[in-house]
Amino acid sequence: MIRLGARATRRNAADGPRRGGPGQTTATAIVLRRRDFRESSRIVTCLTREHGKLTGLAKGAHRPDSPFLGRIDFLNELDATWSADRGGLRLLVRARLLRERRGLREPRRFLAASHLAWLVDCGSHEGRSDPELFDLLHGGLNLLERCPGLAVPQVVLGLELRLCAQLGALPSLDRCGECGEPLDDDAFRQADTGGLACRRHAGLPRYPLRPGALPLLRALQRSAGRDWPSLDAGAAVAAAAPLPAHWLAAALEQRSPFRRLLFDAPGEREGTSG
Ligand SMILES: [Zn+2]
Repeated sequence: MIRLGARATRRNAADGPRRGGPGQTTATAIVLRRRDFRESSRIVTCLTREHGKLTGLAKGAHRPDSPFLGRIDFLNELDATWSADRGGLRLLVRARLLRERRGLREPRRFLAASHLAWLVDCGSHEGRSDPELFDLLHGGLNLLERCPGLAVPQVVLGLELRLCAQLGALPSLDRCGECGEPLDDDAFRQADTGGLACRRHAGLPRYPLRPGALPLLRALQRSAGRDWPSLDAGAAVAAAAPLPAHWLAAALEQRSPFRRLLFDAPGEREGTSG
């Protein structure tokens, strides 16, 4: 309550004006990460549509009268301005709160959103524009905030597939990566490339896909994000989950610390060992 009142009456540097000084950058931004800097400040990393990832120092952000208070929280959407790029760390000059994602405070949604933010953080670059990636994060957070709770895992799988495609890491879900013949339910994952293969071209030892995995991944790939929650996924989620994990780990060279908690542990374990 106190904070809301203070925010409503406060008029200061963090509120604007929106047009910054020479060389400053202003953009809509989503907070990906924060860490403390010295006693009272924070270093904030955001994703923007126009400028990719931007990191800035929010001076005095921990002080009780800071205009940044309650604004630069994880996943908040901001209208923010950074100082000119002079080679060192930029300053976060001002940040106006556009949107808090209260719907993501529920534990499972928060975990899924943290996973998505981690993936996007790994797949993005400081100062390099990637509008598709920003849209994936923005749209993904919207979906995770609103979808039925039980649909969270299949929405995460859908988002992972989109990210794989954006990173150029999504193998064909329809044809054998070796011979190009259509894949039926008797399909295998290649241990070396992670691509999919028919029985004839699956290397040894063979890693068969679990029943239902391929149809679910195809359905997610072909449908719009808003339709993912209504797909009848059931047990196929656990069957399909190991595949995007392989593709993302290969593309990002890291594994998300959140993923194991999101999907059934047995499915994940089976995927890891092949
Ligand atoms: Zn083949």
